[in-house]
Amino acid sequence: MEYRTLGRTGLNVSKLGYGGSPLGDEFGTAEPWEAQRAVHCALDLGINYFDVAPYYGRTLAETRLGAALAGRRDQAILATKCGRYDVAGFDFSAARIRRSIDESLARLRTDYLDVFLAHDIEFVHEKQIVEEAIPAMRDLQRAGKARYIGITGLQLKLLRRVAEAVPVDIVLSYCRYNLLMTDLDDVLIPFAKQHGIGLINASPLHMGILSSSGPPPWHPAPAEVKEAGRRIVELCANRGVRASDLALQFAFAHPYVATTLAGMPTVEQVRQNVAAASSAMDETLLAEALALAAPIKNRSWPSGLPENQDA
Ligand code: NAD
Repeated sequence: MEYRTLGRTGLNVSKLGYGGSPLGDEFGTAEPWEAQRAVHCALDLGINYFDVAPYYGRTLAETRLGAALAGRRDQAILATKCGRYDVAGFDFSAARIRRSIDESLARLRTDYLDVFLAHDIEFVHEKQIVEEAIPAMRDLQRAGKARYIGITGLQLKLLRRVAEAVPVDIVLSYCRYNLLMTDLDDVLIPFAKQHGIGLINASPLHMGILSSSGPPPWHPAPAEVKEAGRRIVELCANRGVRASDLALQFAFAHPYVATTLAGMPTVEQVRQNVAAASSAMDETLLAEALALAAPIKNRSWPSGLPENQDA
């Protein structure tokens, strides 16, 4: 496993990170023992970055990850989030954030987080994130409950505006850098580089579209994006290559992103994705896959308040 530095935090993170949302059954029911074995397998194979949130499975994912990491907490760079608690349940008030971190620490069976992120900030007014949420998170950092703090979301321009208005250590962006989307590079990367902000790229499989698992029923992408993804998966299958391998290798090749987070509820998926991290990408196949993606490239979907949309 290769490790990279996460911006100015100095954290040395595995280039493949463990995405915890499937532990909350967000992609179908995960078998609990299998999920626990998947976490152990990830640790054994050198994955050290683990991302979760109270929102995933409405606390189920944190509870499962906490149980799986028991006795091995020191091997993990552990990240969780605050502010999002349900599909439409958001609370970025300072009081809720203070309560939230204590609840997360209890579920995760630890007394500190490595990374604490404001979750899906596009669902509330920018002012509240800048003036209330981030300062409250900095207070918790000073109190020793979290080593570094940051923000997450889909809307790149908002992530950038907030990071311009108030310093953050880390930005997590999802579904913005993979075979179907690369606008992360246009909006966020130059700014993040300039300020040494650690950048995390989540959902390299475009939340399942670029894998044999396929998208979950709630997937918000337009139908033509799902269809392009399906054709890429088919193309790869015809060449005897897993689409997830190609998609992950494309994401790993990013020169600034420190860790790419993939959701992996099974040992088999962990093993496959770790193997993809240490094998070469088929450049001819990549060119063909990108050609299939070209007509729908960078086609996202609305998320959050109207004022926070990128377009
Ligand atoms: P993803 O692109 O990683 O896709 C996950 C899906 O792909 C799951 O169904 C998984 O079982 C499947 N998969 C993974 N490896 C596979 C393989 N080798 N073969 C077949 N199928 C495979 O999407 P994701 O899980 O949404 O993103 C990764 C992680 O990033 C999340 O779990 C979460 O921790 C984080 N994330 C954070 C935010 C945020 O903070 N706003 C948003 C999205 C994702």
